[in-house]
Amino acid sequence: MELLRPSSLDALELASDKLPLAGGTELVPQLRDGLIEARTLVDVLDLLPRGIDGTRIGAATTLAELEASDGIPAALREAARLAASPQLRGMGTVGGNLLQSTRCWYWRLKFPCRLHGGDRCHAAEGEHREHAIFANDFCASAHPSDIAAALVALGATLRTDRRELPVAGLYRLPTEDDRRTTTLDPGELILELDVPEADASVYLKAMDRKRWAFPIVGVAAARHGDRKTVALAGVAPIPWLLDGSVDDATPLPGTAYKVEIAGALVRRALAAVA
Ligand SMILES: Cc1cc2nc3c(=O)[nH]c(=O)nc-3n(C[C@H](O)[C@H](O)[C@H](O)COP(=O)(O)OP(=O)(O)OC[C@H]3O[C@@H](n4cnc5c(N)ncnc54)[C@H](O)[C@@H]3O)c2cc1C
Ligand code: SF4
Repeated sequence: MELLRPSSLDALELASDKLPLAGGTELVPQLRDGLIEARTLVDVLDLLPRGIDGTRIGAATTLAELEASDGIPAALREAARLAASPQLRGMGTVGGNLLQSTRCWYWRLKFPCRLHGGDRCHAAEGEHREHAIFANDFCASAHPSDIAAALVALGATLRTDRRELPVAGLYRLPTEDDRRTTTLDPGELILELDVPEADASVYLKAMDRKRWAFPIVGVAAARHGDRKTVALAGVAPIPWLLDGSVDDATPLPGTAYKVEIAGALVRRALAAVA
């Protein structure tokens, strides 16, 4: 494997076997565990925009920088603060966070499940207490990003080297014909985010430990004028924009407890932004 350090974004050429490396906290373990293969890594950390400028956030901004910023909506700051460990927040970038893979243990252990192109969801048939309560009929994985849920609730948009899109549009539910969970094309690079100011916003997170744990359920709520938007982490294969009630959930036997937690957190979050 080779590591390239191009001098500018213009000199950058990415492809499906030539992957961008930012903080490496997700990519390096996946390469080590043989979950993905790459001939070439391209270090983009110093090439991508970094830092916060008004509503714009560079893709190379770390979670630690978000956590320490007064200039971003509270939901995003709190989602960053509650994610991972201080060391991981110091290395992990917001761009990489949005593109992290599922923590489903069957997927991480390389079971030949549907997300790996197979024809079974081992979690639905097996151990699934951390899995999804919405959109879980094909793949029951639960999206692990606190940051993504906050950005979806805040109505943030992304700029890549090819297009602009809402953060919600970065994600897709996997299907029989297309197992991907994002809409990013091979070689497409996230450059920056635009996060509109909110009149009020909050992020609440239920986790197994008080610190350094993925969301069992994360709830982000944002209010712009009279309009309130709620998005959840840890409840569906993608960050979940709540369009209706938590009671519409279709939990698996082992995830029914999450419906109650989600309902309580949504009520609290809506009260907090009222
Ligand atoms: C033990 C552990 C606990 C964690 N806990 C949490 C948690 O509680 N909540 C949470 O939200 N997250 C959690 N995370 C995830 C962590 O926040 C991410 O690993 C980190 O943010 C990824 O950023 P990175 O810069 O290291 O990405 P990298 O590892 O460098 O990249 C990740 C992926 O994104 C691609 N990529 C990176 N940047 C770009 C870009 N700009 N454009 C296109 N592709 C890009 C890479 O090619 C790779 O596929 C945890 C991670 C670990 C290891
Ligand atoms: S939940 Fe998704 S990733 Fe996990 S075993 Fe089922 S298909 Fe695979």
